[in-house]
Amino acid sequence: MDNRRRQPIGIELVKRGIISEDQIQTALDFQKNHPREKLGDIIYELKLCDENTLIAAIGEIFGEKTMLLNPADVKIKAEDYISLDVLKQNNAVLFDVDDGRAKVCFSDTANKKAIDTIRLLLLNRGLVMDRYITFKSNIDRVLNGFGGKVSDKISVGSDITEMVDSIIKTGMDKRASDIHFEPMDNIVRIRYRIDGQLFNVAEISKDKQQQLIGRLKAISNMHQEKQESQDGRIILYPDYNIRVSSQKNVYGEKFVLRLLKKNANVKEIFELGFPNDENIIRNSFDKRNSITIIAAPTGEGKTTSLYSIIQYLNKPEINITTIEDPVEIRIPGLNQVEIDAKSTFIDALRTVLRQDPDIILVGEIRDKETAEIAMQAGQTGHYVLSTIHTIDAIEVITRLKKMGVSDYDIASTVATTVSQRLVRKLCPHCARERDFNEKELEIIHGIEERNNVKFDLNGKKTYDAVGCKECNGVGYFDRIGVFEILVFNDQLRELISQGESTLKIKEEAMKYGYRPLIVDGIEKVLAGITNIEELNRKLRIY
Ligand SMILES: [Zn+2]
Repeated sequence: MDNRRRQPIGIELVKRGIISEDQIQTALDFQKNHPREKLGDIIYELKLCDENTLIAAIGEIFGEKTMLLNPADVKIKAEDYISLDVLKQNNAVLFDVDDGRAKVCFSDTANKKAIDTIRLLLLNRGLVMDRYITFKSNIDRVLNGFGGKVSDKISVGSDITEMVDSIIKTGMDKRASDIHFEPMDNIVRIRYRIDGQLFNVAEISKDKQQQLIGRLKAISNMHQEKQESQDGRIILYPDYNIRVSSQKNVYGEKFVLRLLKKNANVKEIFELGFPNDENIIRNSFDKRNSITIIAAPTGEGKTTSLYSIIQYLNKPEINITTIEDPVEIRIPGLNQVEIDAKSTFIDALRTVLRQDPDIILVGEIRDKETAEIAMQAGQTGHYVLSTIHTIDAIEVITRLKKMGVSDYDIASTVATTVSQRLVRKLCPHCARERDFNEKELEIIHGIEERNNVKFDLNGKKTYDAVGCKECNGVGYFDRIGVFEILVFNDQLRELISQGESTLKIKEEAMKYGYRPLIVDGIEKVLAGITNIEELNRKLRIY
């Protein structure tokens, strides 16, 4: 307990240089709308400073042992000692029992009653309690079952073949896109990436590391002895393509499995979060003699969007050819060409052009040569779809110029550029409704002003992510695209061919209905699909 004289935690943290007075103010403003939340939890949730630094400082201030508490920290089946209901009622996580001592993590050490209850129950079983503190949301996350459930399902102690199988199958159940096997100092850590976020799900003892690596190499068809980076494929699971890559680090070889679901129904274009307006779609895509480019950083769903657009355009009388590296999803009716070690992108593109397709999907424009051929294809009666790695729809122009494409070619060939980000959707089972707070309204009004738009805020509510069984305790479930679509009209083409700055082009585009990513993002917040906090994580709006 905390009997020492100390100042309020906010002041203590500022004194220690952990956060600034401005940040404390941000947290205090947030607290006005969430009076029951503690300042430390708010600072953590708002990510105002490094989590490790914060928890260490809180430990020092309260004179308590601390930990961040991940699902992977739970080493035992807590219900063997104390019922889960009792742990939940007392906001406590029993995570380890060793040598007559039980380690329990609490979120609030001022709650003497909870601590005494748990201490007594443990004493009745002959165990002495060691107390730790962490953040409330981490306690909730573990209690709501993510870690518990996953670790239960993964049979870490058993035979290595079964263990690997169990880790992969559980990852599939949990909709993981990647599974990481990471040798560390004294364990091998297993993490899943779900909706773009990494979660610790299990730890395997170091003495199993070599067997584990051997098994992964065997099923991935990799060389057993070779320790340099390797690529492989697992074909044991009929519904999935699993690409595997290994890389040596100081503690051993790290493996990443990328899970691609086969024949996954390509989503309808509107389901992705595109503006639900047939006219916009028709005006943006399917224009002969032109190129549409989807621009976004890696991992933001460019490929999914490409496939959905292709699916939308896919009709029996139209010849669609794709050039991909590799083919990720097979779609009936398409001629899909995969790049292999012998053929380059350019070779494939040249061959494909000779077969006179109507629509060509070029996986990615990555260099001058691809850009030039894609442009030529777009100028000779084809409709070309591709992606490029830039931050927004306007920057595509700059990027193409840097690759050596002329202003004239850009102006005359590019029809539409689209940019996108994936944001997590609020879990419909546990999202908690509330009014927008002052800070959020300020952010929204700022966006209105900067982008010359007006949102309809009348009667609109927003939601906090809470966490429940359905969403693995995360509060979010699945993702949706936030989009901006820039359709090049005559006025814009004129500006581009004159080599005008992107700023000027942006200003002009806004007159014709171009709405930046953030505007679409706020629309999705107002529709209750996501919230400002998540939008900020992706687009940094405050
Ligand atoms: Zn939920």
